[in-house]
Amino acid sequence: MSTTIPLAVTPAPPAKHQETTAGNYFVSNYPPFSFWKTDAVPELLAAIDRPSAPDTPLGVYLHIPFCRKRCHFCYFRVYTDKDSAAIRGYLDAAIKEISWYADKPFIGGRKPNFIYFGGGTPSYLSVEQLKFLTDAMKARLPWDEAEEVAFEAEPGTLTDHKLKAIRELGVTRLSLGVENFDDHILEINGRAHKSKEIARAYGYARELGFPQINIDLIAGMVEETDDNWRECIRKTIELSPDSVTIYEMEIPFNTTIYKEMKVAGKLVAPVADWDTKRAWVNYGFTELEKAGYTISSAYTAIKTPATKFVYRDKLWVGADLLGLGVASFGHIGGVHYQNQHDFEPYMLRVNAGELPVYRALTPTAEERYIREFVLQLKLGHVSRAYFAKKFGADPAAQFAQALQRLQGWGFLTVAGDQIRLNREGLLQVDRLLHEFFKPEHRNARYA
Ligand code: SF4
Repeated sequence: MSTTIPLAVTPAPPAKHQETTAGNYFVSNYPPFSFWKTDAVPELLAAIDRPSAPDTPLGVYLHIPFCRKRCHFCYFRVYTDKDSAAIRGYLDAAIKEISWYADKPFIGGRKPNFIYFGGGTPSYLSVEQLKFLTDAMKARLPWDEAEEVAFEAEPGTLTDHKLKAIRELGVTRLSLGVENFDDHILEINGRAHKSKEIARAYGYARELGFPQINIDLIAGMVEETDDNWRECIRKTIELSPDSVTIYEMEIPFNTTIYKEMKVAGKLVAPVADWDTKRAWVNYGFTELEKAGYTISSAYTAIKTPATKFVYRDKLWVGADLLGLGVASFGHIGGVHYQNQHDFEPYMLRVNAGELPVYRALTPTAEERYIREFVLQLKLGHVSRAYFAKKFGADPAAQFAQALQRLQGWGFLTVAGDQIRLNREGLLQVDRLLHEFFKPEHRNARYA
């Protein structure tokens, strides 16, 4: 039986921004990054010198900031002009970083539970560079107890030789940045790969026996149409990956598309509006469900209920994350931090023997509660008992007003232990999460 939390008046839902305008939509952390400050870096240094809380899982994220081309919608810190000497220098720096951390009290002899190679394009690295990097990482923080080693790959960079090497170095979750199956749409959005490279890389990855293959899609790339989107979903289901991730296209300010909008004096991006993008994700989820998949988050469908995404699941319950490389985000002993967000300052700091951290923030107990709650709500359901045990307060009471608003808008129910979003709520969850933010963090610049 569901419970409605009483509140006298349900205010109107936040206005939907129907058109896609510039700005960040996706909520990946809390408090918003714009509140992380350089003067809080000493708090991180203190956390590194303390032992971790008992039973806290440890993850390692390494950012590989190189790509063949810059996609027009890309907002990540990536470089398309670095030669092999610069790349080797970068790998050396990342190894220095991990070496510096390896003996610190917060690691305390823990081995990583999960590893994530993100980008950028980790598969841009050559086989020799990958082996050099991973051998050095394993020597400092052995991976033999890792439940998952995840690796992002751009299909056009995956020769058979490289795929085999990636499998041999221990990758368990290969995530293919497919985004779309149509060559024209790939081309006009600035993607480097072609559709024929997707099938070839996927087929060989299957032969190599990767335990899990994920396909990433984006709903709402420039010139996307209903017919093409249906075809993308059909082709995805035909490949039968273990997991499918679908993001709705957003246009942050540091994208090529935004720069072109600015020059042309346009406020609306040349991509589908939000209702259309949500309808496309809903179509994808519905077709995937018909094919036997389960929707496991606002962005993810999994082929069997046992398919895990350890990186996400551990992070969303408060794991420590050692973020390495330029612009990487991490969490150590309750302190959030981000590394230097450009190549030269990052390299200068590491090569001077300094920690390349740029900004940090120690969330309060209330902010840690909000962070976990909003992240877990992206799964579509949260357990009241989990939060009551961990934070000493039932979320039904802690967030009574925000929950009542979402109930009033028809997106959410509270039934027994479970707080659940329905499909309509799940499709726009990032917009709704702001309801749970502290007042000073609502409507603030996110990044
Ligand atoms: S491949 Fe990914 S990281 Fe590289 S430019 Fe494109 S969107 Fe950005």
